[in-house]
Amino acid sequence: MFGLMQDYPLLVHTILDHGALNHGEREMVTRGVEGPIRRTTLADVRSRALRVAKALERDGVKLGDRIATMAWNSERHVEAWFGIMGNGAICHTLNPRLFAEQLDYIVNHAEDDIMFVDLTFVPLIEALKDKFGTVRKYIVLTDAEHMPETSLPDAVSYEDWIGAVDDDFQWKHFDENTAAALCYTSGTTGNPKGVLYSHRSNVLHGMMVNQPDVFGLRSEDTVMAIVPMFHANAWALTFAVPAAGAKLIMPGPAMDGASIYELLDTEKVTATAAVPTVWLGLLQYLEQTGKKLPYLDRVVVGGAACPPMMIRKFEIDYEVELIHGWGMTEMSPVGTTGKMKHATSGQDREAQLKLKEKQGRTPYLVQMKTVDDDGKELPRDGTSSGHLLVKGPCVSRGYFKLEGSALTADGWFDTGDIATIDPLGFMQITDRDKDVIKSGGEWISSIEVENVAVGCPGVTEAAVIGLAHPKWSERPLLIIVKDQGAELDEAAVLGYLEGKIARWWMPDDVVFVDEIPHTATGKIQKMELRERFRDFKFSS
Ligand code: ADP
Repeated sequence: MFGLMQDYPLLVHTILDHGALNHGEREMVTRGVEGPIRRTTLADVRSRALRVAKALERDGVKLGDRIATMAWNSERHVEAWFGIMGNGAICHTLNPRLFAEQLDYIVNHAEDDIMFVDLTFVPLIEALKDKFGTVRKYIVLTDAEHMPETSLPDAVSYEDWIGAVDDDFQWKHFDENTAAALCYTSGTTGNPKGVLYSHRSNVLHGMMVNQPDVFGLRSEDTVMAIVPMFHANAWALTFAVPAAGAKLIMPGPAMDGASIYELLDTEKVTATAAVPTVWLGLLQYLEQTGKKLPYLDRVVVGGAACPPMMIRKFEIDYEVELIHGWGMTEMSPVGTTGKMKHATSGQDREAQLKLKEKQGRTPYLVQMKTVDDDGKELPRDGTSSGHLLVKGPCVSRGYFKLEGSALTADGWFDTGDIATIDPLGFMQITDRDKDVIKSGGEWISSIEVENVAVGCPGVTEAAVIGLAHPKWSERPLLIIVKDQGAELDEAAVLGYLEGKIARWWMPDDVVFVDEIPHTATGKIQKMELRERFRDFKFSS
């Protein structure tokens, strides 16, 4: 027997309808690539998103067509998103930090039909356009005044393009499992893989992150989405913020400490999210200028492990709640957040700060477990580490145009991370499975050593990789980028690590480099480092 409730498909554009109707006056503020700050409202964003949908229909776009965006976070990008999805097409976000060959592969694999491009990326796309076999039209996210001379085929300025239609359009109606968005994982090995979100998964995920123990967004909040919309849905903020009726701030391309601080301050931002490297820039700026963060209530840090010193700086020096989060593109992307819970609220501050180093616990709608190499579930004891598997309505089961399931025989998705889960449900990532360092039959957590090493005065960034060793099979090499002008040598770094990590985890050598390579989503490229130091000989 079925229940007698309404059949109300979870379609992403219903979020914008709700936001515009109930919070239509709520502002969306963008630092545009043209320079000035632009202000609009949720009601206006909805009206313009309807015009996007109507203009796409006029241009012959059909259900399931892939429409690409190569853009920074802006209100125009949000309008394009909702317009594309509300028309039944699939919004394919492109990461501009990918290599040209990867972009070429991705656009052709997705068979993108039309592409929205920010002004900044016009030269990049002009250089690649002849390789993009399927893209027939380019919409440059600017107005007629700023529209550049361009060789892109059928190029038009966004404002001219939506200016040619009105907003008298009905969102399309379809099954909630219809594909809404496509995002390729950077694919450190092999070709990038397309993660295909549905309307249902995006709506559920947007609601999931609005839970109080996740990001907990309220209508009173002013939220700055620093994490780019091309990095796994801006961690759901473009859905969660209009759903909550909060004010949304979009920083455009300017992510340096000074620019971020300016918006945090002038717009009185209460909640924000970004990867650790962005926060490092902000913290450096605050230290240099002596400025504080009086309005900021909470900051979400994820995408890579949050170093302990960052937790202390935000929580103690600036009195901002730090929420450490973990997830991946295949999870929409949020998997865990490290909010305190009933059982930990009585703990002393030090214990809580330590707990925040873990990646956190799952909200309702995510299930996780760890298993050994044979697939046997490991105890939640905080020490047994194994492969982290996940399940849920916002987790991928396959990849776009790839045959077969991406799941284990019993229906779990293997994250590729190695982790522990403690009795209170807090998960801690120790490594990516391909980055694990196997020394004498035991595992050394490269992340934990890196976390401690970046706390050493004079260290800007640290990476630990395992290199072949005749006796121990592998031993750790610590690679460091120094602060500008810092006097630092191997002995000082090892002296700092002493006592803070297990003795057998101590790196066999420390090398100093000018730069550590990063992926398109800001992660350390360990594979490239292993390649670079392949012939390195340990000194002892
Ligand atoms: P890619 O960068 O390859 O496109 P994702 O952005 O989806 O892929 O990255 C997902 C991976 O990032 C996770 O599987 C995990 O290894 C890492 N990651 C994300 N958040 C954290 C975190 N808080 N701590 C440690 N690792 C993290």
